[in-house]
Formats: sequence, C-alpha cells, structure tokens
Amino acid sequence: MDGQSTSLDFALISHQDSWEHVSAFLHAIRSQDLESMSIDKIKDIFSWIPPRKVFHVGVRSTYNGREVRGAYIESFIPPDQLQLTYFKKLVQKVQQASACAVREKAKIVTLGGFTSIILEGNIDLLPSRQGTPFTTGNTMTAALVVKGVEQACALHNISLSECNLLVIGSTGDIGSGCVNYFAGKVKQLLLCARRVSLLEEQSEHLKGSSSAVRFSNDPASLLPLADIVISVASTSEPEFSTSQCQPHTLICDVGYPKNILPDDQVHKNRLWHGGLGQITGGYYFDPDYTGSFYIFPYPNVGHGCLLEPVVLAMEERYESYSTDRGRITIEKIEEIWELSQKHGIVLAPFFNQEGVWQF
Ligand code: NDP
Repeated sequence: MDGQSTSLDFALISHQDSWEHVSAFLHAIRSQDLESMSIDKIKDIFSWIPPRKVFHVGVRSTYNGREVRGAYIESFIPPDQLQLTYFKKLVQKVQQASACAVREKAKIVTLGGFTSIILEGNIDLLPSRQGTPFTTGNTMTAALVVKGVEQACALHNISLSECNLLVIGSTGDIGSGCVNYFAGKVKQLLLCARRVSLLEEQSEHLKGSSSAVRFSNDPASLLPLADIVISVASTSEPEFSTSQCQPHTLICDVGYPKNILPDDQVHKNRLWHGGLGQITGGYYFDPDYTGSFYIFPYPNVGHGCLLEPVVLAMEERYESYSTDRGRITIEKIEEIWELSQKHGIVLAPFFNQEGVWQF
C-alpha cells in the first residue's frame, strides 16, 4: 500500500447482516488478549459503538495493474434494527459513518446494503459531504444480478423468452433496475412488493413492453408461477421459502440480509446468492481480517454495492453514479458491466449456504 498518500481512492460504508457475523467481526477487530464476549453482551454494547474506519482495502485492476486503495467503515448498525421503525437512529449512524469517510478524504464513498435504503438513496440527507461524491452501488448490484440470471439460464439450458420472471421487491431501486432490464426479454413479468399503489404505477409504465405483466402484494400467490425468481426485498430476515417454488425454478437471492428460506434440497443447484462479483486481480484487507470476516466459498468475492466505487476509482471517475430510487437504466447497467469486465471484476461463481453449485 502507498503509505505516502493522504487520501483514499474510495470508502465503503456498510453493516453486518446477522449477530453471528457481528460476533466474528468484533472478535477479529478486538485485541486477541481480551476475553471472548457472549452474543448477549455483544447485543448490549454493539449499537453504542460509533461508526469508524476498521481496515484498509487494496484492490488490483487487471487492466493496468494499478492498485486502488480504500477503507471499510463499519456503521455498527445492529442487524435486528434493519427496519424503518428505527429510522432516526439509523440515519444518525449513516450520517456519522459518512462524516468519517469525508474526514478520511475518500474520493468516492458507497453506502452499502441498508445504509442507502435508509436514505432511499437520497444523498442530500447527508449534510456535510463537502463535495465528496456518494453512490449507493446499486447499478453494479443490478448488473451482477441480471448478468447472473442470464448465465444461470444458459447453464440450465433455459430460454429467457419462455420464462415467467418474478421480482420480489420490484418497486425498489435494484428491483426496478432488473425489471427495466428484463422487460421485453421474458414471456411474463411478475411484480411483487407490499405497496399496491406502486405496483400499479410500475405495471402501467410497462404497458408498451412485449412481456405480459402481472402484480400482487402476496408473494405466495406468485412464487408457484415463476420460472425465475429475483428476490431483492429489503426484509430484515428471510421471509420467502424455496418450497413455494416449482422444482425447476431458478432463484436469485440478492437480499442482505437474505430474503429466502432455503428449506428444501430440490433447489440446491438452482438457488444462488446474487449481486456478487469476483475481483480476478485480487483484494486484501489491512489488517488482514479475511480469516474471520467476509467469508465466501470462493476468494476475492464482494457485494456489488461495494464493488461499484472500486470500479469507478479504477476509472478515476469520482461521481455519484447511483443515487435516489428507480433511476437504474439499461444503459447504466451495460456501462458499469463493461467497465467492471475491463478491470477484471466478473460474476462470482454460483453458490448458496449449502456451498457451490455442482453439476
Ligand atoms: P429498496 O428499499 O429500494 O427496495 C426494497 C423493495 O423491497 C421495495 O420494492 C419494497 O417495496 C420491497 N419490500 C420490502 N419488504 C417487502 C416484503 N416483506 N415483501 C415484498 N416486498 C418487500 O432497496 P434496494 O433495492 O436498495 O435493496 C434491496 C435489497 O438488496 C436489500 O436487502 C439490500 O440490502 C440488498 N443489497 C444487496 C446487495 C448485494 O450485493 N447482494 C448490494 C446492495 C443491496 P414495499 O416497501 O412496497 O414492500
């Protein structure tokens, strides 16, 4: 790493998605001489810890061999508070984390997972940005989801144009980006979210598309009709079950925390954790917490929302690439996809909680 540099190419703001991950994370970053803490003790203290930079990250581009250098800023949002009922507290945490990124002189900052959902992508809710560009990273996530769906269909010899595609969370930022991308490419779009008025509006917008459109706020009524499911709802725990799907259905769970309860074996090679990329040039953490935190069955894997600022930093494009809700276009998906391929950031291999897909 370049010790002379006074600013960071990027900063990644995020949170942990379960108490199990919080525990592994906290034990990794505390002094190894300290006694181990019980989950109950961790639950007592975690939300009181102010957001802070925890480690540096280095990522290498395969295009020019250049390394971009950033920092991971943990928001210390407890996983059981990932709900809008904690709105005030959560906004405060995101504001503190953002101020930390600005203090670190990051050239671009991403709001990973729920930290952008809380703001509905509206970066104007971060008052002291001092000109620092913020992005949600959602265009990159959407790109990794749609390209993953296409690749999964190719692996299973499924023709998209004959499929009913269900998007749970279709009116959200990533969900609507996926809907826009697949409109006209699939036989039928099945749209699902809780607010019916937004679903009505969305289906109205899709009227000119050659795909048929149907919507419901009841996922159980749509899951059995789907050949492909993209689940990208902002639930704080899994709410939808693989057993509600047909045996042949391909299921992409994009949620962080996860949306889908994997309660059958039938979908073992058909359910995958989507929105993830793999950095073929490699990444490292300093200090190195890779053994106890951010563990995947493959090396150098990362979430789309955290990879977007990395790609932009590699391109030296320090701009608020993804903001607000519902503004992800096909053109932007294709652009960020092309740039990520150029720098060696590709689709992560398919895996789920059972491990990697086996054929
Ligand atoms: P948004 O808040 O923009 O959208 C969430 C969508 O989910 C809305 O359509 C919302 O509509 C719907 N929704 C929420 N709860 C339910 C429910 N119980 N049943 C059905 N629909 C529901 O969020 P984003 O698009 O920004 O993010 C979505 C998910 O993707 C989150 O879990 C986030 O953490 C995750 N994510 C994953 C990444 C990855 O790399 N895998 C990267 C970035 C984010 P309504 O309120 O009307 O129900």
